[in-house]
Amino acid sequence: MYTCGPTVYDYAHIGNFRAFLFEDLLKRWLMRRGFKVMHVMNLTDIDDKTIKGSQNQQVPLRQFTDFYVKAFFEDIKALNILPADVYPRATDFVSEMVTLIKTLLTKDIAYKSEDGSIYYAVCKFPNYGKLSKIKVNELKAGARVSQDEYDKEEAQDFVLWKAWTREDGDVFWETELGKGRPGWHIECSAMSMKYLGETFDIHCGGVDNMFPHHENEIAQSEAATGKKFVDYWLHNEHLLVEGKKMAKRLGNFYTLRDLLAKGYDPIAIRYLLMSTHYRQQFNFTFEGLDSAKSAVDRLRNFVRRLHDVDGGGDSKGKVATLTAKLEACFGGSMDEDLDIGTALASLFDFVREINNLLDSKMISKSEASEVGGLMMMLDEVLGIIGKVEVEEALTADIDAMVQKREAARKAKNWKEADEIRSQLKAMGIVLEDTAQGVRWHKEKS
Ligand SMILES: [Zn+2]
Repeated sequence: MYTCGPTVYDYAHIGNFRAFLFEDLLKRWLMRRGFKVMHVMNLTDIDDKTIKGSQNQQVPLRQFTDFYVKAFFEDIKALNILPADVYPRATDFVSEMVTLIKTLLTKDIAYKSEDGSIYYAVCKFPNYGKLSKIKVNELKAGARVSQDEYDKEEAQDFVLWKAWTREDGDVFWETELGKGRPGWHIECSAMSMKYLGETFDIHCGGVDNMFPHHENEIAQSEAATGKKFVDYWLHNEHLLVEGKKMAKRLGNFYTLRDLLAKGYDPIAIRYLLMSTHYRQQFNFTFEGLDSAKSAVDRLRNFVRRLHDVDGGGDSKGKVATLTAKLEACFGGSMDEDLDIGTALASLFDFVREINNLLDSKMISKSEASEVGGLMMMLDEVLGIIGKVEVEEALTADIDAMVQKREAARKAKNWKEADEIRSQLKAMGIVLEDTAQGVRWHKEKS
């Protein structure tokens, strides 16, 4: 699968992450169903916005985009998005793009304009518009658009290679096509075919990429190869914030970092952004984010509670029936075009019913671990509970307390240091002074 990646000129916003999370869910579900997934996500590190950003900061383009590439990887890690197999950067594949454009020139699909830029002649590709259902006869013959992004009303010959202009500064490549730089659309055709072949299975992106970006990718690739480019296109719908289109000028524009700075749990953000079906518009609200946090906590607490079951009970087959029902419901819903809403509803029904059995002490230790195993299996798809979540959070808490005690000791604040020591003792944590400093371990129970 090929998924259009970020343009690395700024931090990615929650609308971008809605797309990346839907793609993550798709990929995880395909893997769950036994498919071997090869996932390619491009990084657009050359376009009008990246050039402008690097000029404003007066740093080389690569240095400017490196910063946001690094930030992007930090963000997807925080959101527990599985990394792609490859992240090709557009500027590393200019020669592949040049080859593709040369093929289109040879086939007389592309032409050079007076200023040296190369355009795609839309009228030469009869299937133009098949994805976005735009009608080709509405296009003005010979009219051109040189920007990378434009509306349906402006549909016309689009740019493959932009001849160098003064605004580009020191960003250009000297190639057989002349001095200049590639357009945005050609990068995805060149890089997807490089890694996935001339025809591949799945291509995803936000619905706003359908036209012109994906339409142009099809036109470029299919005209060059004479083969079908992609078998399945999946597009996620828009994200709104508190019912409005997200826009900087409306003050409702959020990057992941904005939300983390407000103290929100990244996994709650993950849960919220992926819990609405991808083909539905999604309305982001802070109220929704709070409920997402409760939902995530409910699942984590449930898993903790299962760990604590110490035997005795017996559900008389009820647990087996409930787990079979959940597996069938969850799987059936996800197979139905990733119906995550129904899948999650079946999960929470299950949690409620098992909790009732736990309340009445009707679950054996082996039943609890069976349920725990199923939860971990489903979490490979959802990515919200985490395998060692319980341990990790605790370890971080203890480390912080030990450090606080050390600081108190250094400040000769013996009272506070002793208090922390007894708090830790109450948690079953034993401190020992070693040559390397203070160590801690859990008391053997
Ligand atoms: Zn793309």
